[in-house]
Amino acid sequence: MNCYDCAPDHATTAAVAICRNCGAALCHQHAQAAPQTVVRVQGVGQSTLPEMARRIMCTICRGAQPA
Ligand SMILES: [Zn+2]
Ligand SMILES: [Zn+2]
Repeated sequence: MNCYDCAPDHATTAAVAICRNCGAALCHQHAQAAPQTVVRVQGVGQSTLPEMARRIMCTICRGAQPA
């Protein structure tokens, strides 16, 4: 699969990741890794894990996210 964001530039760059939001295949240049808080429900209420997970998004979806 080739990078979706490279396609408009008539480039065929091999994709290394998939945007978790829109599902577009992304090359390393267009893939944006963002930290994601992991929430685990334990009994009453929620607790957040100290380690942040990884979230891969395309540049479009990354720009639309608040953090
Ligand atoms: Zn690309
Ligand atoms: Zn996306």
